[in-house]
Order: sequence, then C-alpha cells, then structure tokens
Amino acid sequence: MTRKLFVTTALPYANAAFHIGHMMEYIQADIWVRFQRMQDDGAGAREVHFVCADDTHGTPIMIAAEKEGITPQEFVAKIAAGRQQYLDGFHIAFDNWYSTDSPENVELSQGIYRKLRDAGLIVTKTVDRFFDPVKGMFLADRNIKGECPKCGAKDQYGDNCEVCGAAYQPTELVNPFSVFTGSTPILKPSEQYFFALSDPRCFAFLKDWLNTPGRLQSEMVNKVSEWLGEAGEKLADWDISRDAPYFGIPIPDAPGKFFYVWLDAPVGYLASLKNYCSKKGIDFDALLNDPDTEQVHFIGKDIVSFHLLFWPAMLHFAGHPIINKLKVNVHGHLTVNNEKMSKSRGTGISPLRYLDLKMNPEWLRYYIAFKLNAKVEDLDFNGEDFVARVNSDLIGKYVNIASRCAGFIAKKFDGKLASELSPAARAWIAKALTRDGAERQAGIAALFEAREFGKALREIMEVADITNQYVDENKPWILAKDADKSAELHEVCTTALILFRQLTIMLAPVLPQVAAKVAEFLGDTRLSWRDTQGAAVYDIMLGRTIGAYTHLMTRVDAKMVEDLFDKPAAPAPALAAAPDVAAPAPEAPPAADIEALAPEIKIDDFTKIDLRIARIVQCEHVAGSDKLLRLTLDVGEGRLRNVFSGIKSAYTPEQLVGKLTVLVANLAPRKMKFGVSEGMVLCASSADEAANPGLYVLEPWPGAQPGMRIR
Ligand SMILES: [Zn+2]
Repeated sequence: MTRKLFVTTALPYANAAFHIGHMMEYIQADIWVRFQRMQDDGAGAREVHFVCADDTHGTPIMIAAEKEGITPQEFVAKIAAGRQQYLDGFHIAFDNWYSTDSPENVELSQGIYRKLRDAGLIVTKTVDRFFDPVKGMFLADRNIKGECPKCGAKDQYGDNCEVCGAAYQPTELVNPFSVFTGSTPILKPSEQYFFALSDPRCFAFLKDWLNTPGRLQSEMVNKVSEWLGEAGEKLADWDISRDAPYFGIPIPDAPGKFFYVWLDAPVGYLASLKNYCSKKGIDFDALLNDPDTEQVHFIGKDIVSFHLLFWPAMLHFAGHPIINKLKVNVHGHLTVNNEKMSKSRGTGISPLRYLDLKMNPEWLRYYIAFKLNAKVEDLDFNGEDFVARVNSDLIGKYVNIASRCAGFIAKKFDGKLASELSPAARAWIAKALTRDGAERQAGIAALFEAREFGKALREIMEVADITNQYVDENKPWILAKDADKSAELHEVCTTALILFRQLTIMLAPVLPQVAAKVAEFLGDTRLSWRDTQGAAVYDIMLGRTIGAYTHLMTRVDAKMVEDLFDKPAAPAPALAAAPDVAAPAPEAPPAADIEALAPEIKIDDFTKIDLRIARIVQCEHVAGSDKLLRLTLDVGEGRLRNVFSGIKSAYTPEQLVGKLTVLVANLAPRKMKFGVSEGMVLCASSADEAANPGLYVLEPWPGAQPGMRIR
C-alpha cells in the first residue's frame, strides 16, 4: 500500500522576509520529502503532499500595516510576494504555498471551534486583560513583554518564553510593559473564550498521545510530560479569543471576538492542503479522514507548546483521525559561529545575500544536512568548517569521481560504457555498496527516514571513499596512455561511473540540481531509490551510451564566505523580529553609583526630541577654543550640517572622521562665537567628573544609516 504523507514546515509569520533559520527548517523538510518521493516502487511507494502558508493574523501585522498606511491584507500580500525567490533559490519544492487569511482557513477554524464547543470544551470566563491606557486598546500577548514567570528571563513575550519554552498567560509576566508605549498595562475586564485544556479528557488524551512510541523525540516527550503534571494538574485552560480591533477570524456567535492567531495558525496547515487538493482535484476530506494519512510537521523548538499540547487536542476533540498519525519533528536553532544570530552585529546570514553572491544553494543544503540529526539540538554554521566540508566532500570526493573518469568514456569509447564487468570490478562495487554483509542503501534509507541526515551523508561519503580508492589503485590516467590497456580502462571508468550514479541517487534528496544534471548526463532521469539495490545497480548502466560530462559544481571560495558576513543586512523593524535563538537568562549586575534618574516622562515627551544617525564627514579643531571641535555631519538630508561639540578633551579629529554618531537634529540652531551650531551630538559622561572625567560619543551598531531616526 502506498504511504500517504502530508508534510508541513512551521508557517512563517508574514511580517518579515525569511531569515536563514527559516531556510534551515525548509531545507530539512525538503530533503525528507525528496527522499520520500524517491520511494516510488511497490509496497514502499509514497504519495507526498508538502505544503506551507503564511501565518498572517494577529496584532503585530495589524500594527505594522497601520504604520505603513495599508490594510493588513495588503501588507501580507506584499510579504507573500517575496517568498518564492527564496524557495526557488534554495530548491525548496513545496507543492503549495498558501495563507491563513483564506476562506478555507475561516471555514476549517470555525468548524473545529464548533466541534470543540459541541464537545463541551469551550468555556467563557470574564477575565482581566491587559490594556494599554496610552494607546487605548487591549494588548495582545506579543504586545506585552516582561520577565518569564517560570525562569525569570527578561524581555519575554506575553505568551511563551523563548528561553525555557514555557507557555503562560500575559498576566503571569513579572514587570510587564506595553511594547508600543512602554507604559505599564492596566487590567480591564473582558469576556473571553477558552479551550478547556484543564478538562480531564484532555489530560487523558494527551498523556496517551504523547507516549505513543515513535511519535515524538524523547526529549519532547519528557518536556511535555512535565507540562502535563502527574494528573493533568498543570494544564490550564487556553484563552483563544481576542477583542476587536484584531486582524483575525471571527469567533462564531461571539460579536467583537476573534480567534487568537495561534488558534487558526496550525489550522492553516489543513487550509493549505485543502487549497492544494482543490487545485489538483484530490478529495480533501477523504485524504484528511483516511486513517492511514500521516501528518508530519517540522517545527523549531520555540513553538513546541502550541504543537504538542493545543494542536493535538484540537484535532482530536474536533474528530480528525489524522491525529493518530501525527508526528512532530522538532529541531534546534541555527547559530552562526556559535553565536546567536544578530543582524546588527553582522553575524546573521542573509539568504538573499548568499544567492546574490552566486554561492551554490546546494553547498548550504549539504552543509546543513551534514550537521542535522534527529535530536532537538542547535546547529552551528561555521564559515571555515563550511568551506572545508563542502570542498572536501562534494568536490574532493564526489564530483572528483566523474571528472576523473567520464572524459575517457567520451574520448576513447564513443560515450559507451562497458557491457560487461569482471568479477574483480563487481567485487569493488559490492564492497562499496555493502556494509556488514547487507546492502548499504537500506541503512541509508532508514537514516533519511529517521532524519539522521548527518549519519546518512557520512555513510554515503564512505561509498565515495571506497570508489576513490578504486580509481586511485587502477589509475585510469595511466591506463589511457597504453593502447593495450583499453579494455581495462573501459572497465575502470564504467565501474567508477556505476558507483558515481549510486552516489548521485543517494545524494539526490540533498543535491537535487546536481542530481538532475548527472541524470541528464547519464541518460537516467528517473533517479529512483529502487535503483540502489540488486541488479538495478548494473542494469541501466552496462552498455549504455552516456552524454558528455558537464561541469557539476565548483569549490567554495573562502572569500565568498567572508563576503557573506562582512556587510550586515539592513536591520529588521522592531515589530518584525521573529522569535529568535534562545539566550541564557542574564543576571542583574550589582548597582553602580549612578546619577539619579530624571522625572518620569510620557512617550510623547520623548518623541518631541528628534534623534538621528549622523555621519561625521569632517572634523577639525576650532581656533581659539580649547573645548570645541567643529563637526561636519551628514544626516541624509542632501546637505551637510555644522555642529560644534565640546569633546576636544576626549577625541582627536582623526578618531572621529568617518564614524557614525547620534545627533539631536531638531534642536534650535544656536549662534556661537565661532559660527552657528545646527544640533547637538550626544555623549555619555559620569555624574562624578572628578572620579571619571571621560566623555564618550555614541556610536550605533553596524547597519545604521545617516538620517535614520532613533525611537
Ligand atoms: Zn522562561
């Protein structure tokens, strides 16, 4: 029977372009899907549906759209229009890309909700919700930050902690503040709708579901078991409603209430599948309700609570049998040179920059695959390691085989491979393709299936090593010089190319483009896993006329990797910050002897001061002044400003020229003895000048541009 697989990645939030972390997840899922698609024969054949969508609802998008003066729908459409270049660029072959802001999602989300309500699992409670008294609106979880109630990590959102992974209510945050105005939110009563996760039925179901063998990684079973408690006592009802104004799906029979974005986001998996089915003429309901359809999610560790508590319970109590075949694969985060990615520090890798530099996307696919395993571990991108890995494995081991042997077949044998092989040559092939007395391909297939990509690639590289050993021992370049050794040369090159084809088939999930080129050159375009076993290894190849060898892949130039990092990407707008890599909770340092804080101000007071990034174009001493330097500043206005600054004691002009700094740009011009000063450059200084007479000019992080406003 054909296995039916419905595979998804996490739905990216549609408020920003993709970052490299997205590409890592998509590449992981894409490799798995491509591997499944190569199982096209008999009992093991697969029917794979691989879909994704933009996650579009919620307050951050509503606010971002408002800022740009467009509708949320327009905002989301703009983001969606930018997706395909990334997916094509890295050979990520989703069958469908859709949106949670779609009729299918409205229908499915409301349908699931009604079923949960009919099952007695929706309750209403009047609860105090956070309200921003300055902005005059209820605050979504993501609009509130504060300290995690579980681990104390600072600067965490109101719904879940990116450090310890805990999910909680925003009311549980310690020292909460509104991200819009910085004001302390006040509590205002509001009637809310809850999914009754504390109902004993939920605990009974989840405990059983979690502990079904083979469904989740053991780390995840342990983690979620902790969240359940011994008898479900830790499960709290989940607030699934938000008050208008909200960009979301209306809750049936509840005017002015909308589903919280995390209620309808995972339903978006089904909505995208439904949309895809209607395009393809597939019966969606039959596929979804087929007890044999397997649903496989690839997600990051930061969104585990939504996928391992709420989503399975929703599916189960809404009567979707797919829950019995739901698998969730959780991966760690991507770090760069062992640091949390940071665009402002220039350690982030921009996927588009990678492509702009004409770096081969398959280098990244291979490197990521090589470092991936089935555990919930972070994956580090290290520039030097990347260059070494790709050049050694892909060029030195894999491509090298074809480049050393294919030319002789074309030149000396009219492109025709040998029709027969000696027992000795067959023995080499068997040696390369056998491990512990069994065909290697089955073990490699099991590793791909289990998402142990790193182990699979190590084993494939063992096949490459043995093949290279064979070529090295038989030296076709020496045989080619001796006309009497023509038959030997023919056999050696044929044997090497037979193994090269095997390597290509097994690498095809990771290197789809190279595999397609090789398939074309060998005249075998089916690239099926069934050809990695038994007689199929030889059948297609012996006596075949192959095409001309074309160059398959170049080495990575270390300079390219440098260029990948040297210029930090434009900083993302604050609201667009996607959940990022977890950092350990910082500890408060001991109090220093600082100046008393000025009286509290309102945000409006602050916004009166227009602070801008300025470039110090020129700097010189001022004749007759022992305190001042004359700065010529570019604030992006198309003119230069003249500013006098009392920093002569701390800096020489040479130290300042070319630097960026911060200027109070709307300060009234001031006539001084030496000329007019058009603004003020900011400096830090100690209240106790005697103890610390230093003056410190401010410098923004890399990426800031003259004229940008500081807010
Ligand atoms: Zn925490």
